[in-house]
Amino acid sequence: MKKALEFMEELEKDVGMLASEIWSHPELGLEETFAVALYEEYFQKQGFCVSKVEELPTALIAEYGSGTPVLGVLGEYDALPGLWQSVSSREDGSEGKPGHGCGHNLLGAASAVACVAIKKYLEENQVPGTIRFYGCPAEELGKGKIQMDEHGLFNDLDACYTWHPGSWNAVTGSKLSALIKAEFFFTGRSAHAGAHPELGRSALDAVELMNVGANYLREHIPQGAKLHYVITNGGQAANIVPAEASVQYMVRAPRQASAHDVYERLLKVANGAAMMTETSVQVIKEKDNYDTLNNQVLEDLTDEVYRECGGITFSREECELAKALVESLPAEHYANARNVYKSPEGIYLDGEARGILGRGGSFGASSDVGQVSYRVPTVQCSAACFPLGVPLHTWQTTASAGSDFGIRGATYMAKIIARSLERLLEDDTGILQKARQEFLAER
Ligand SMILES: [Zn+2]
Repeated sequence: MKKALEFMEELEKDVGMLASEIWSHPELGLEETFAVALYEEYFQKQGFCVSKVEELPTALIAEYGSGTPVLGVLGEYDALPGLWQSVSSREDGSEGKPGHGCGHNLLGAASAVACVAIKKYLEENQVPGTIRFYGCPAEELGKGKIQMDEHGLFNDLDACYTWHPGSWNAVTGSKLSALIKAEFFFTGRSAHAGAHPELGRSALDAVELMNVGANYLREHIPQGAKLHYVITNGGQAANIVPAEASVQYMVRAPRQASAHDVYERLLKVANGAAMMTETSVQVIKEKDNYDTLNNQVLEDLTDEVYRECGGITFSREECELAKALVESLPAEHYANARNVYKSPEGIYLDGEARGILGRGGSFGASSDVGQVSYRVPTVQCSAACFPLGVPLHTWQTTASAGSDFGIRGATYMAKIIARSLERLLEDDTGILQKARQEFLAER
């Protein structure tokens, strides 16, 4: 009887094929038609049942098998604006073209191929179980998975795996923050700023006073919470009292409930600014994302799989490119990454990336994965695809995501996910029930 890792060996080249094709055709969130068509064709050829999601044309679900457990793997494929770059250490100038500066070409490819390995395992071993790939659009817009969840698409999962390309091999373990994004539109009264300022009511004054209030609020919000803002409209000309002005805010916090508390107080600050300036304010909430809920039971199992599989060894050429990318950035990036992540090795230092654990604490960023993690027990993983010290959303990450070392990291990740899912299918010690109990207690 063949095992999941043996199937993965046969499928290895598929990771590179899918990742490279999508890297070469970067598409922004909700526009990922090339990627979805590619995955649809791939899964159909592999004998999966493929379905689409109403109102979300660039989402896709591919399923194989029947009965329980029902195991899900999330994939993403959207790119970022203006980050186009060739696979080299030199910036080419993107001319506005999107690029895979977050490595979602790798993310989707590894997840998809892991699902195919499990399909082959189910087939070969004639055991009950369902494997499901979720093609989730528009992660960078924080949207796809939330809408998919609103359709109830994750409800019947027993466990869900996802991963993100990073600079180390480990169960992610750390939490992503909850995030609320809202825009505040103030409306006042225009007037000639020189001739009749007494007739004007400045919407820009309201924006500025709101920002002053928010900056005082910052001192009194819970540990780990953050406020960010940008002025999205500050008026047209200094000699016109602006009748309209707006500011966009983001509130982040370790748990969604505390993000809501801070947001409620921010609304008071906005109303106070409107009252002081005799303007009115309208608020449009654009995002309300959960933090991520970790699952220790599934993380422990996955950590064992990392240790069982060992790390990745990179070739000399791969290390040279990685080194050039790191050296194209200020030295602090690398020093800071080593300090923050306590990682003993960067990719290029000794040609290896070993498994490390980065559990606990909260990570400043946010993702729509949070919504899924509050629906089903979810594991987040990472594999070394980017050199340590190369920050996400840069041209250096785009180069890494298209490189041989990026694909090598993604292939390794597909193995870890496939082996972890196989462990869940083989398990007779009640791991999935324990994971569910923990999930229900922590939620
Ligand atoms: Zn990302």
